[in-house]
Amino acid sequence: MEKFYITTAIDYANAKPHIGHAYEKILSDVLARWSRFYEKDTFFLTGTDENAQKNDQVAKEKNIPTKDFVDKNTESFEELCKTLNLTNDDFIKTTQDRHIKVAQAIFKKVYDKGDIYKKTYSGKYCEGCEAFLGERDLVDGKCPEHKKKPKIIEEENYFFKLSKYEKEILKLCSSKNFIVPSGWRKEIVNRIKLDGLKDISVSRQGLDWGIDTPIDSEHKIYVWIDALTNYISALSYPAGAKYKKYWPADVHVVGKGINWFHSVIWPAILMSAEIPLPKQILVHGYVTFNGEKISKSLGNAIDPSELIDKYGVDQFRYTMLKDIPFDQDGDFSENSLKDRTNNELANDLGNLLSRTLSLCEKYYSGKLTKQKNDGLFEKLNLKKIEKHIENYNLHLALEEIWSFVRASNKYVNDKEPWKNEETREVVLYNLLEAIRISSLLLSSFIPGSCDKINSQLGIKSGTIKNIKFGVIKKYSIKKGDILFKKIE
Ligand SMILES: [Zn+2]
Repeated sequence: MEKFYITTAIDYANAKPHIGHAYEKILSDVLARWSRFYEKDTFFLTGTDENAQKNDQVAKEKNIPTKDFVDKNTESFEELCKTLNLTNDDFIKTTQDRHIKVAQAIFKKVYDKGDIYKKTYSGKYCEGCEAFLGERDLVDGKCPEHKKKPKIIEEENYFFKLSKYEKEILKLCSSKNFIVPSGWRKEIVNRIKLDGLKDISVSRQGLDWGIDTPIDSEHKIYVWIDALTNYISALSYPAGAKYKKYWPADVHVVGKGINWFHSVIWPAILMSAEIPLPKQILVHGYVTFNGEKISKSLGNAIDPSELIDKYGVDQFRYTMLKDIPFDQDGDFSENSLKDRTNNELANDLGNLLSRTLSLCEKYYSGKLTKQKNDGLFEKLNLKKIEKHIENYNLHLALEEIWSFVRASNKYVNDKEPWKNEETREVVLYNLLEAIRISSLLLSSFIPGSCDKINSQLGIKSGTIKNIKFGVIKKYSIKKGDILFKKIE
């Protein structure tokens, strides 16, 4: 059985999640579900970065013990996984023992290799990024991500010989499928060619929050070796059965702001530790809300669960996936959520189910046996859908599935089974099959609604093997509640 290991980035546990956090998780969940649909042995990981200095800072500002503070925020992120109906197989927290021992083991391995050394360093440090920034990173002297002037910091730290891996990293990043989409690949490759790779600090001195380095108790392990190793600590590196089965990762899904860390620093650490490299870094854009950047200071950092309570989780998942192509920044708005719910989910899909089942109950008491293929199934372009998902164009895959749903609505209008008795049974059976197949294809995107469709059709969900005409020999349907309520 082919395996598939997919991860999201781990979020800082210094605040509650907002809708920007939801996008990456939904995108990853669809890919994980789709992989299971293709009967791959799939492992989907998400989690929180609890050791970050900014967690400690915010906790201190709020006068809350740091551990209590991160525990509480992590709980909201775990809650979000449930609210979004994610199928993550694990949730890693970087204060867990299972993570601490792996982060220390990797640090030690890289140190023993001779790739970590001590030196005094002075540089421009952005607290938001938790990173030293080069001149090229700054815009008008400020961090473009956090709009803040970096602080000059001078300290004695342990450094990782990133420069030693420049040639290999450049080769890796230049390869066609490692960084997707190609725009972000070019950006990284250009930056390596222009500036080269400089050694980076992998420890911080005099802190009281974080993981001790295994070689010097005055120093904590800095974010690179700490946070990034979550992808293997969750699999119980090096001896765990999951590590042996799932590593290397097939896809690390990350926001564009942390592309460099994942495409350059993480593989270099792995090279040094002699661990196989992940196969792909999938870089997505940022989400704006009602046209504005999401931030706590703007007061629009909306908790996704508020919108989900109001509109429903599949309405939220669907709109997000439809409105935000992964390779661009995209806007999410309540207006679009309403429009797509009313027009696409309720009118196109919901009505197709409800009118078909009403006719099946009226004329056949809900019992229909297999009929001949009337050609509706040929309107489905599975190859195209597969191609779109392979290229991570989930919005286009949805559009293609929808063209089948619309073709089915046109079919029922054209055939008028309420009038034409002689073709009625064939038409209704073909429609039930079209709904069943649409539901299978949509089950990675709007899983809860597809469960409801399946239960009304009286069938179980299935895999790609069931995407063919005539699988169900005898339908015994039971019309239930409407799938998507219209929003006024
Ligand atoms: Zn910054």
